[in-house]
Amino acid sequence: MTPVTLSRLHFPVTTLGPGRRLGIWLQGCSIRCPGCISADTWAAAQGWTTTESVVDALLPWLPDAEGITVSGGEPFDQPDALKVLLRELRRLSQVDILVYSGYPFDALSGWLRENPGLIDVLISEPYDERATQTLALRGSDNQRIHFLTELGSARFASYDRPAVPDDRRFDVMFDADGTVWLAGIPARDDIRRLGEAMRALGHDVVFSEAKSSEALS
Ligand code: SF4
Repeated sequence: MTPVTLSRLHFPVTTLGPGRRLGIWLQGCSIRCPGCISADTWAAAQGWTTTESVVDALLPWLPDAEGITVSGGEPFDQPDALKVLLRELRRLSQVDILVYSGYPFDALSGWLRENPGLIDVLISEPYDERATQTLALRGSDNQRIHFLTELGSARFASYDRPAVPDDRRFDVMFDADGTVWLAGIPARDDIRRLGEAMRALGHDVVFSEAKSSEALS
């Protein structure tokens, strides 16, 4: 049993890579980039479960998934759990695996050397709110896309380009308690403008910065 902290799972995710994808958001981030829109995933001591439970929860979706995206939080803050999880997903599925990290690529090179072939495409480097934001799949232009396998190149080469309006879509998820959760790469200021638009329509709008996670049992 390998412990892991999890923020959420979702299928399908259509805004973080090609096709209808499994989305895995790990909980906990020690990098804490100013301006991060995922601050609800920063706290590391919540959402405890096991990699086995995560895989069990993903199994019903796997046959229909056209790719897997792992984000967070910071996936590499849980290097052992990430390794176990990706090994198991590799065993169960042939689809591409994209992983986001806020660490510089050089800081991840050891893990990548020790675990070849587990990740097809890596997007590295911390979000920088002062940087321009013009590139597909990236929240700031300092972030780098790395094609680590032939499958990764085949699936993602077309994303190594400037963003187009369609890249700024969101997947919208509704939790049972009424919480709305968005996945995707918003344009700068989209979240603030969304809040203003909702308030103008008479809704109460509270953006979560430390939403508690439900651990899988
Ligand atoms: S690494 Fe990702 S989750 Fe962590 S603070 Fe930066 S943008 Fe947010």
